[in-house]
Amino acid sequence: MSIAIINIGDSVLGTRNGASLGGDAIVTDGGVISWIGDTSQVNPGAHEEIIDVAGATVIPGLIDSHVHSTFGDYTPRQNTIGFLESYVHGGTTSVISASEVHVPGRPTDVAGVKALAVAANRCYQTYRPGGMRVHAGSIILEPGLTDADFRDINDQGVWLAKAGFGAFQSPEGYAPVVAAAKRNGIKVMFHTGGGSIAGSLSKITVDALLEVRPNISGHCNGGPTALSRDENRRLVTDGLDIALQLVHAGNLRSAIHYAELALEHDQFHRILIATDTPTGTGVIPLGMLRQIAEMASLGPLTARQGIIASTGNVADVYDLNAGKLEIGRDADLVVLDAPVGSSADDALSALDIGDIPGVGCVITDGVVRLTKSRNTPTPKRPVTVTHPAPETVIV
Ligand SMILES: [Zn+2]
Repeated sequence: MSIAIINIGDSVLGTRNGASLGGDAIVTDGGVISWIGDTSQVNPGAHEEIIDVAGATVIPGLIDSHVHSTFGDYTPRQNTIGFLESYVHGGTTSVISASEVHVPGRPTDVAGVKALAVAANRCYQTYRPGGMRVHAGSIILEPGLTDADFRDINDQGVWLAKAGFGAFQSPEGYAPVVAAAKRNGIKVMFHTGGGSIAGSLSKITVDALLEVRPNISGHCNGGPTALSRDENRRLVTDGLDIALQLVHAGNLRSAIHYAELALEHDQFHRILIATDTPTGTGVIPLGMLRQIAEMASLGPLTARQGIIASTGNVADVYDLNAGKLEIGRDADLVVLDAPVGSSADDALSALDIGDIPGVGCVITDGVVRLTKSRNTPTPKRPVTVTHPAPETVIV
């Protein structure tokens, strides 16, 4: 299956330097980006589908690194069916589980948390709600998990863990278990800030984070209760190996403070934009675009940086093959444009003034999933899809 995307206007590669495409056309084949060049070089007859984006903006699909998937396309927390498919209409093409903590009656013993992570991981190996990739199976860290346990589940495909919901005596008590998980190829996210719901854990402080050393500070801007400004500063300056995840369901003032600190200390590459949904804050299909728009319009990040923090930065921290418009990367792409009625003229300008862009097309795994988002306004530049007649196909 080969798709050619032509007449691309602006673009965001997803790389840290903020580069755009070296051309205005992309070809995908077999689920990956196979060619980048100029529209004039594209032979329409050589592709099953031609997507003419008429000058709209193309970005890598957004990767939400804080989603509480359970099983199927259903969230027990908000009793919502089909939420993941709906997120695709907001430009999210991959999500990363922040643990299956919402599974009703979830186990808390060692055998149980291992089994839950393995089962969740397996259930999304081939199941793609709305076409999105779900990286599921984040083991909920509990006392008693050993190197052998992490080796065992890693051998079975589990590569994610979540600290913050286990029966540890103190936040610092996570340190040896987190170290064991990391030693065995598992990326660990640590809850940060105050507890999420009534009855949940006490505050995870910056002291705990700096002692435990997770790979990712989950919702470092609060989930939804934030750290102090002094703690924010210490996490940025002293936790250089810890990614800084800024979520929509957190504290916006704190998120903006982190962005200011990251730019001040040349730590932008550690910033990840995510949603932390579904949670008490709800199911938010436009959560990624909203967080980018709020960060860009109210804080120091540009819209381009907001997109990089939602794509390439996430790919780098989690070692994913998605998140960048490069040959050989996953063919997960989103076409965005200024929405009809906006005073902005293109997608990035719209985000910079706080408008949510219109999603004109979403491609995942080299397959067109939608050309009309049911969740965003209409893009100013219409996307046109054509299928060259079979007799004109050049083999
Ligand atoms: Zn969460």
